[in-house]
Amino acid sequence: EALKCLRGNLLTLLTVLGVLSGIALGFILRRSRDDPWTQREQIYVKFIGDIFLRMLKALILPLIISSLISAIGSLDISLSGKIGARAIAYYMVTTVCAVILGIILVVAIHPGKEENKDKDFMENAESRNVTTADTLMDLVRNMFPPNLVQATMYQYQTVLIVPNYSAEDLAENKTLPLHEWKMRFKFEEGTNIMGLVVFSTVLGVCLGKMGRSGKPLLDFFRSLSEAMMIITNWVVWFSPIGVCFLVAAQILEATDIDEILNNLGWYFITVLLGLFLHGFILLPFIYGVMTRQLPFKFIMNMTQALFTAFGTASSSATLPITIDCLETKNGVDPRVSRFVLPIGATINMDGTALYEAVAAIFIAQVRGLPLSLGNIVAISITATAASIGAAGIPQAGLVTMVMVLNTVGLPAEYVSYIIPVDWLLDRFRTTINVLGDSLGAGLVDYISKAELQNMPVPASLELERV
Ligand code: ASP
Repeated sequence: EALKCLRGNLLTLLTVLGVLSGIALGFILRRSRDDPWTQREQIYVKFIGDIFLRMLKALILPLIISSLISAIGSLDISLSGKIGARAIAYYMVTTVCAVILGIILVVAIHPGKEENKDKDFMENAESRNVTTADTLMDLVRNMFPPNLVQATMYQYQTVLIVPNYSAEDLAENKTLPLHEWKMRFKFEEGTNIMGLVVFSTVLGVCLGKMGRSGKPLLDFFRSLSEAMMIITNWVVWFSPIGVCFLVAAQILEATDIDEILNNLGWYFITVLLGLFLHGFILLPFIYGVMTRQLPFKFIMNMTQALFTAFGTASSSATLPITIDCLETKNGVDPRVSRFVLPIGATINMDGTALYEAVAAIFIAQVRGLPLSLGNIVAISITATAASIGAAGIPQAGLVTMVMVLNTVGLPAEYVSYIIPVDWLLDRFRTTINVLGDSLGAGLVDYISKAELQNMPVPASLELERV
């Protein structure tokens, strides 16, 4: 028993060391010579980290599908409905809190110094972007994939096609107004996790309802889910070295770090402060009040997942490890963790929501665009939607940011203001995203304890406790 306990903590310790040594390694390599590192060299440094990421990603698809189906299928419908509703309520409330916190901070700190208007390098840039309504419709479309196999590889996205102007057209300024551009629905590479989540949830509910005739399929998914968790347990052992090289390569890749600190320092501090207050004060407070337990130990037990989130910048890739920590270290019922976490990793992104709100207002400040109360309300609504719509992959938030900018009439091109620091902020917000999902699962587990106890855990869902 003592040995097992040591084993669990040893790995966490090594992962923390992995991140720290990755930072050190990155800076040592960077400083070791004057000319920048070529892309080829960066790829070499990243290689081991990349392999780790690929292993984690390989688990996501079978894990999400099997764990959702088996967890939901093992609950009766009214209980799974209650657990789902509690999780969604928690996700919504905390995301809105994060957005409000971000807005308060960015308005109070005012990190955006208004730029000299003469330097208007982008004033005439034309926005080539779809509207908020299109983005929201994409979100819903993705929830209903017409082809499941395709959903494992592609997401749906609406794009506008740039018209083919001839040189004369352009010279005579005969361009089409934006609303006359053609629209096209395109498939972007990347798993449509939202669609798979919806389908698996429905299938789980259905199998639970079918009783005996649904049992063979349910057993299949239970067994698959169990196998994926065991493989996760193996893959986790690569995390110290994996995150080390991921972080080191990222530091090599980053463009001038000093410049970032000079120009974007206050913006960076505002987001970071918001993430810290939200993740380590507000969320633990909510957890503590609701469960009447100190959240400290719970959070400590999640360290492994939090550092992996920092290393990979992807809450989806971290998902297997998050589930593992929750079940083995925090003793969360697998029917809860495997049900609410895949959904949480897809739609509950507190860190991202906070960052979207701060970034949009920051950009408005830099552009000297005064924001009315209505604008701020619009930003908070779209920031929430943008965080739900963002996939749990690196810098997905930057893409959905466009929709937040559009609501206040800022063109998409303005995201370039915040791109230099985004790789770093992404890691911090992913960590808070994972922390938010974890505390949510813990909370839902606590609230649902009594009901779950009346319903025995199917043997194959039981995990070995470390
Ligand atoms: N990288 C984040 C995540 O995986 C999403 C984002 O870009 O904000 O949670």
